[in-house]
Amino acid sequence: MRGGEINYVHIDMLRLQAQLLQEIEERRGFVPCEGLEYSAPCEAPAEYMVADATRPGGGGSEIEIRPAWFCRTHLSELLGRDPGEQPLSRRIEGPEK
Ligand SMILES: [Zn+2]
Repeated sequence: MRGGEINYVHIDMLRLQAQLLQEIEERRGFVPCEGLEYSAPCEAPAEYMVADATRPGGGGSEIEIRPAWFCRTHLSELLGRDPGEQPLSRRIEGPEK
């Protein structure tokens, strides 16, 4: 497999997000879904992180790309399909018996 379908996250980003996750959970008890830009804020507990989500930036019309947290419903809307179960570790092609 080569090209655009490979997902990857730098270990430092993982560390940072894990730290943020812990801080938010300690403060609020759970990490809230950030919802979609064009709909009402969602406060459901997040179940997924999108590493390269596009979000409105500080300046209003600007768009920034950053990790964002989503509940399953909103990630489904974003993807156009159910995100499925994780951890994702599966054999796609195996040797024939
Ligand atoms: Zn949501």
